[in-house]
Amino acid sequence: MTHILIANDDGILAPGLRALALAARTFGKATVVGPEENQSANGHRKTLFRPLRVNKVDIGDDLDAYSTDGSPADCVALALMGAIPSLPKVDLIVSGINRGANMGQDLTYSGTVAATFEGTISRKPSIAFSLDNHTLNADYSASAKVAEVVIKQVLQNGLPPMTLLNVNIPNLPFDQIKGFRVTRQGMRIYNDRLDTRSDPYGRPYFWIGGAVPTGEISTEGTDVWAVHQGYVSVTPIQLDMTAHRLIDIVAEWDFSG
Ligand code: MN
Repeated sequence: MTHILIANDDGILAPGLRALALAARTFGKATVVGPEENQSANGHRKTLFRPLRVNKVDIGDDLDAYSTDGSPADCVALALMGAIPSLPKVDLIVSGINRGANMGQDLTYSGTVAATFEGTISRKPSIAFSLDNHTLNADYSASAKVAEVVIKQVLQNGLPPMTLLNVNIPNLPFDQIKGFRVTRQGMRIYNDRLDTRSDPYGRPYFWIGGAVPTGEISTEGTDVWAVHQGYVSVTPIQLDMTAHRLIDIVAEWDFSG
C-alpha cells in the first residue's frame, strides 16, 4: 500500500496540513508529522545540539499524527530515521498546504519547502504545496483537490534524484482555477519594514514586519505570473544550486593571489 508522509511548517494544528493529509489518504496510508508550533520562514534547519521529542496527537478524522519540537525538516528526518515505531516504508513526502504562497526567493526561507528538501536528500519523491492566501480563515478545499491531481502524477511518473516539485495554488474555487502551468522561479518583491520599539525597561528591540510580499507578475512563465493569472504553478526544483552561467566567468578570474 502506498504510504505518504505529510509535514508542514505552519504547525500540527494548521488546517492546511489536515486538508493535505486527507487528500494523501485517498492513495493509501497517510502519516502526519508536524512541528508543535508555527515554523514559517524558518528555512532548512536540522536540530543537532538538543534532544527532540515526538508525541502522538489527535488532530481528528482518525489521522495518524505526531508532533515534534523540531523544525519542519526535523519532522521528516525523524520519521524517515525511525523515531515513529513500526512506521512502514515511506513512498512519498508532501508538505503543506502552506498558508501563503512560496514562490521566487521564498524558497530560501520556506519551512514548507525545507521539509521537501529533507525528503529529497533522503531520496524520496517530495512535493511542496502552498495556497496563495495568508489569512487565517483560508479555504483549503480547492488546494486539496489540486494536491490529489499532482500526487497522482508523481506516484505514476516518479521524480529524478535530487529534484522535487513546488506547487502554488491560486486563491480561487476549484472550478475557477484556469488549469496547470509548469513554471520556473520568478522574482518576489519584499516589503519588509523594521519596527523599532522599546521594552518596559527602555531598551530598544526590533521586529521585522511589513506588508505581504508581491512579485514580478508580468514575466510570463514564472510561478508568480502563473498564480497571478489564476493557474496552479508547478515548478520543478533541484537541490543543485550551482550557477552554471557563472562557472566559465569565475574560472577566468585570477586566483593566483
Ligand atoms: Mn508557513
